[in-house]
Amino acid sequence: MRLGFHVSTAGGLDQCIRRAIIRRCTTLQMFTGAPVQWARNPVSEADGAAFASALADRDIRPHFVHAKYLLNVSSPDRQLRKKSVEDLCEELEMARRLRAAGVIMHLGSVGAEGVIADGIRRVAQAIDVACERVPGGPKVILENCAGQGRIVGAEFGQLAEIIASTSVPERVMSCVDTAHAFGAGIPLHTEDGLEQAVEEMEATFGLQSLALLHVNDSKVPFASGCDRHWHIGRGEIGKEAMTRIVNHPLLMHLPLVMETPGTEADDVTNMRRIRRLIRPENRPPLPPLPRE
Ligand SMILES: [Zn+2]
Ligand SMILES: [Zn+2]
Repeated sequence: MRLGFHVSTAGGLDQCIRRAIIRRCTTLQMFTGAPVQWARNPVSEADGAAFASALADRDIRPHFVHAKYLLNVSSPDRQLRKKSVEDLCEELEMARRLRAAGVIMHLGSVGAEGVIADGIRRVAQAIDVACERVPGGPKVILENCAGQGRIVGAEFGQLAEIIASTSVPERVMSCVDTAHAFGAGIPLHTEDGLEQAVEEMEATFGLQSLALLHVNDSKVPFASGCDRHWHIGRGEIGKEAMTRIVNHPLLMHLPLVMETPGTEADDVTNMRRIRRLIRPENRPPLPPLPRE
């Protein structure tokens, strides 16, 4: 088991590593630029290699890139879709330079009048383009959503359909966000519901293609169709359900990445909390803080 956060890269890649160390991360996720702006400062080959080697020295692995929030490869708007596909290609290239395991992406919205099946086809096409442009590189990782705003990916079956529709299924993996699943009405907060959800993952995209979990509690109720992350064990999913999730025998080998809100102190608290929920025999060693 590996535990980490979405870690900010504000101030540069060195700052990202510093933040990961303070948070006692053994895995991490990052943006390669501001998530709500198209512009980016490209990472050079050399900086990417240095970053990867600094993480490897700290045994922080794997690391993931999260695509921009602006990205909408499902959009019926041709211009936006084109820009999004271009950006996905760039993101995959940045991830390759950073030696990241993959790029986690939201699947985009088909719009009020849109049909989800069209979105599924568009996501698959976007992946084909990006993987052809950046061959042999990192994976594309599809994240489930809470079902808000006609976004593709509220059901695990949709992720599977995308994988089956690409010409590069071996390059595509999945990421399940617990807060999003809960928001979408997948009852992983109950004992039976969690078992069913894991069975559903296996029956659809298959557990072998699950790259990581986003472990977030939810500020909003079950099946709200909303996406509001909250502190571990303090939200609507709650401590008991979180304990079952992080100790599930078919999930606990995965990297667990938290995307909880707040400050550095909040992250440190969330790391302490999640570690406490993990049974001692499953709990990974705590990475040491560097000596001053
Ligand atoms: Zn996400
Ligand atoms: Zn997430």
